[in-house]
Amino acid sequence: MDGTGRRIAIFGGTFDPFHNGHLRMAVEVMEGLSLPELFLIPSARPPHKPSRPMAAAEDRLAMASAAVAEIEGISVLDLELRREGPSYSLLTVREVSDGNPGADILFLIGADAFAEIATWHRYRDLLAACDFLMLPRPGIAPEASFPPEIRIEPEGDRCYNLPGCSCRLPGGRRLLCPALPVLDISSRSIREKVRRGRSIRGLVPPGVERYIEDHGLYRGEERG
Ligand code: ATP
Repeated sequence: MDGTGRRIAIFGGTFDPFHNGHLRMAVEVMEGLSLPELFLIPSARPPHKPSRPMAAAEDRLAMASAAVAEIEGISVLDLELRREGPSYSLLTVREVSDGNPGADILFLIGADAFAEIATWHRYRDLLAACDFLMLPRPGIAPEASFPPEIRIEPEGDRCYNLPGCSCRLPGGRRLLCPALPVLDISSRSIREKVRRGRSIRGLVPPGVERYIEDHGLYRGEERG
């Protein structure tokens, strides 16, 4: 992010379902970096998730949309659902970039996902395609999630208005590692609670809670 172009954050995930941990991260990042826009991008066929049965892509898209319907600046893009084949992030970045000429794209990625990025499709091209922001894991230093295959140079303790540090990726793009307060919520824990008939109030936005209830999602046994 050089501060000259329009800045857009993209936040991809399975969002099965979208929860308040995701939402809080999006809000913290937008506020901390003064980003006017953030796109949530539900993944159609995530190449990295174990092949457990997932809610239909349309349901995951609808839940993410319901979650942010009244939140200014956050919207949902269905571009990975419209595309054939696996949801490769490189194609997504290129598509967002083509649709927003001149914009600086910031790719939000969980530390768990970043730790495995060297296994991703054309990861070197991806790392050179935009800046990245690694969402932290509680109590774990950012460097612990840096893959050994990738040379990442610390650049200093500057992470815009967020506490944390920033690094350079091979090719010169920036990797921001903000020390954000992470909510201990996962989609898996939500699915598990629904399956057991427990309440998920406060863990997901109200629109997501209603959608899960109305559509009877996550009631069956989870495998994988
Ligand atoms: P699951 O429990 O099914 O593995 P998840 O809760 O990790 O799912 P994803 O849709 O895989 O949800 O998450 C998208 C991204 O958001 C991932 O990069 C993940 O690391 C990150 N993420 C998930 N939950 C949180 C959270 N509570 N705080 C910060 N980041 C999160």
